[in-house]
Amino acid sequence: MITLPTTDTTLRPGKLLCIGRNYAKHAAEMKSDVPDTPMVFLKPSTALVRSGGTVELPPQSQEVHHELELVAVITTGGKHIAQEDAMNHVGGYALGLDMTARDVQQQAKDRRHPWSVAKGFDTFAPLGAFVPADSIADVQQLTLSLSVNGETRQRGTTADMIFSVAELVAYCSSVFTLEPGDLLYTGTPEGVGPVQSGDTLIASGTGLPSLEVQVR
Ligand code: MG
Repeated sequence: MITLPTTDTTLRPGKLLCIGRNYAKHAAEMKSDVPDTPMVFLKPSTALVRSGGTVELPPQSQEVHHELELVAVITTGGKHIAQEDAMNHVGGYALGLDMTARDVQQQAKDRRHPWSVAKGFDTFAPLGAFVPADSIADVQQLTLSLSVNGETRQRGTTADMIFSVAELVAYCSSVFTLEPGDLLYTGTPEGVGPVQSGDTLIASGTGLPSLEVQVR
């Protein structure tokens, strides 16, 4: 076990595991099929920015989108973790945003290139403060919402995840050795959309500390 990373702005986990298309309505709004196994991509830890920080719009993109996500933190590492045992490896939860350069991502999709650039810019992984996992009664029954300048843009429930947190941890650990501090961004519900310089994004969720970032 490690102590939960709180609001440390120098947090540098080994990896940020991110899940694409984990909510059917988001897959539909992206005109994508629902996957039959989890779709995993990685972000670099340099993409992290903590609550109170600023998302920097990169010059390479004209269309950066918000994706509101529940984030699980691995506090006990492992490989080939059984789904039944998976929650013993998760020590806490936080709110996160999977910022996405949608135009860059579309180009990558068209060229069959990876998403690393579209997803991996500095400050593209805002992260709130953690609560201990045992403070959350049922992680698959959390309401999540995101407002932009006070207007609600995304509202969802983790009940709609295609793959549960336990399934995702088990699946990811079949590929990667999970290490304490690794973060799992679990996918976004529908309602993604563009942000502009000057926007204030506030994420909230049942039992989770709110996450606020500015866009510049
Ligand atoms: Mg996402």
